[in-house]
Amino acid sequence: MKTELWYTEKQTPNLALSCKISNILHTEKTPYQELSVIDTVEWGRMLLLDGVVMTTEKDEFVYHEMISHVALNTHPNPQKVLVIGGGDGGTIRECVKHAQVEKAVLCEIDERVIWASKEYFPGIAAALFGHPKVEIRVGDGIKFVQECNAEFDVIIIDSTDPVGPGVGLFQPEFYQNVHKALKPEGIMVAQTESPFVNAGLIRRLFRDISGIFPVTKLYLATVPTYPTGLWSFTLGSKVYDPTDVAVSRIPEPDTKYYSSLVHRNAFVLPKFVQAILEPR
Ligand code: SAM
Repeated sequence: MKTELWYTEKQTPNLALSCKISNILHTEKTPYQELSVIDTVEWGRMLLLDGVVMTTEKDEFVYHEMISHVALNTHPNPQKVLVIGGGDGGTIRECVKHAQVEKAVLCEIDERVIWASKEYFPGIAAALFGHPKVEIRVGDGIKFVQECNAEFDVIIIDSTDPVGPGVGLFQPEFYQNVHKALKPEGIMVAQTESPFVNAGLIRRLFRDISGIFPVTKLYLATVPTYPTGLWSFTLGSKVYDPTDVAVSRIPEPDTKYYSSLVHRNAFVLPKFVQAILEPR
């Protein structure tokens, strides 16, 4: 009898995601984290860091499109973009779809994530293979923004959860440096976890970011392999409001989830999410 192999991510102490594995392709301990690549029956190939799903072939487009195009279509001329984390390359792949983007810098702490993505996820990593707009920096995004002054139009924080090397990417000092690294009309966006199981974190991040950026907005997307499937992004902007962009003026890049209507409607929050953001 053939034994079935299952992968289980304990998403919280009381909640898990399980899926059937068809193949284990790679595992290694990098200087920063445990990296694995597995093939699953339902979600296709999966990248795991410390046993947590980073991306899957089947649903990666939702997260990568939604973390990129909302800010890029809010800024009227996003020429220079920085992605912090995001070593799988999915976010930078979306950034370079914008004709106005002239340079997209990726600052990823763990070069083995970049390697694994190029090796096992060539579709997601497409822009990491010597794309003329892309510059790859291997290093800590926290230190990188400390040294930047008014350089970027858009900064995207495509981080792991707030554990290990990702902890500092969820701190107010970091957002202060992101603000400094942005040009006067700049916009930042960060992945900010699930409203169902990370309400306290979302409340704090929203408060921290709105203490620094005059326009702060939270929006949602459905990412089935992330805890609870409902995922939040928090956008901080120096000038432009993502909800003021006229739907008819939002360009439609080559996407599968993001559209001009999704852009507008992603900011329509269910009452329980709105309540998380209300000052206490
Ligand atoms: N979409 C994913 C999610 O929400 O789970 C994030 C994927 S992306 C692979 C996250 C990346 O952030 C990882 O490759 C990790 O190495 C990187 N990272 C974590 N802390 C970092 C830091 N301080 N500076 C730069 N990159 C960092």
